[in-house]
Amino acid sequence: MGLIVQKFGGTSVKDRNRIFNVARIVANTRNQGNDVVVVVSAQGDTTDDLIAKAAEITGDPSHREMDMLLATGEQISIALLAMALQEIGVPSISLTGWQAGFSTDRAYTKARIKRLNTERVESELARNRVVVVAGFQGLNRSEDITTLGRGGSDTSAVALAAALHADRCQIFTDVEGVFTADPRKIPKATKLKEITFDEMLELASLGAQVLNNRSVELAKKYGVELEVLSSINPVPGTVVKEETQVEGMLIKGVAKDEDVAVISILEVPDVPGMSFKVFSLLAQKNINVDIILQSSGRDNCKDVIFTCPKGEAETAMSVLGANKSRFGGGEITINRDVAKVSVVGAGMQSHPGTASTMFEALYSQNINIHMISTSEIKISVIIDKADADKAVAAIHDAFIQ
Ligand code: ASP
Ligand code: MG
Repeated sequence: MGLIVQKFGGTSVKDRNRIFNVARIVANTRNQGNDVVVVVSAQGDTTDDLIAKAAEITGDPSHREMDMLLATGEQISIALLAMALQEIGVPSISLTGWQAGFSTDRAYTKARIKRLNTERVESELARNRVVVVAGFQGLNRSEDITTLGRGGSDTSAVALAAALHADRCQIFTDVEGVFTADPRKIPKATKLKEITFDEMLELASLGAQVLNNRSVELAKKYGVELEVLSSINPVPGTVVKEETQVEGMLIKGVAKDEDVAVISILEVPDVPGMSFKVFSLLAQKNINVDIILQSSGRDNCKDVIFTCPKGEAETAMSVLGANKSRFGGGEITINRDVAKVSVVGAGMQSHPGTASTMFEALYSQNINIHMISTSEIKISVIIDKADADKAVAAIHDAFIQ
């Protein structure tokens, strides 16, 4: 007997059959004696379709109106799921984000949750109802509708679980959990039983799209244990928590990110303040710089090389080009045919030799490394995009049996 928050993504509620499938999962959880709060996303591709509709009207929609539009997707799902639950005999009620007490800041289309007043949800639970809440949406101080950014329903679910002191927060999706690599590409990839919040955050930001990043941050902050599992296959998923059992697993995952460009500024004068000048220009343009490399000086010059997302590379090139006189330097080049391949695992903190195993795997495939960066629980390399899949397979083989 406990309180469980269950979140179902768009694929899990995409049509009538899937909605009834979700209703049965919820009913089972309730029949085991639990109170259940359900958070749902918009059905299937609804959010994308709504964005496309707005684009038919204008190339530059008002963000406020965008949120007014996008929030409708989740409202369809909550009403249909509440009806399905009632149809199979489970008392239930649907609530929009604001009815469920979500107050956010003013940032339309990427709002952050400020407060969560759970009074209404609790009173509905006390009336023995399953409460079905629209994810991804809230209300700002002007009582205007806001949305939390793409994939924001995960965050809604974790926030509810934290505020209600739920015993568990289950994120149901169309994969069975978190894998050691993309199982569509690496057939040997295995499902993880457990992963830490920190490892999950690294993997999430490296493009393993199972959980929204912010939801993991929030779960870590409030100690909400998450479980990622399939809404189709009733098998145990992956538990995300603060600390995991030491099971001798050095590496939890190998991830590939192709959304990377490498920009090189050659022959920058080797004097104090040059890096500051370069990177403050990029900061002013909100460029997300990731890996930075600076060559050792020669002939009073050095090369400054960095990576950023492909979508920001054009802006980076133009701001650097336009301000070249400020930092001097020669040619500025860009390479978009690269990928970042990373290994993630808290175990590497206490295991020397992780980097050398990774580099050996790359060497065995004759893959050249352009850049390397490390953190406590992650090693990333920048390599040619053409080599990326081969690299992931070789590294996965080297670490995970
Ligand atoms: N429906 C929203 C989206 O597609 C929110 C979510 O799915 O979590 O981004
Ligand atoms: Mg969605």
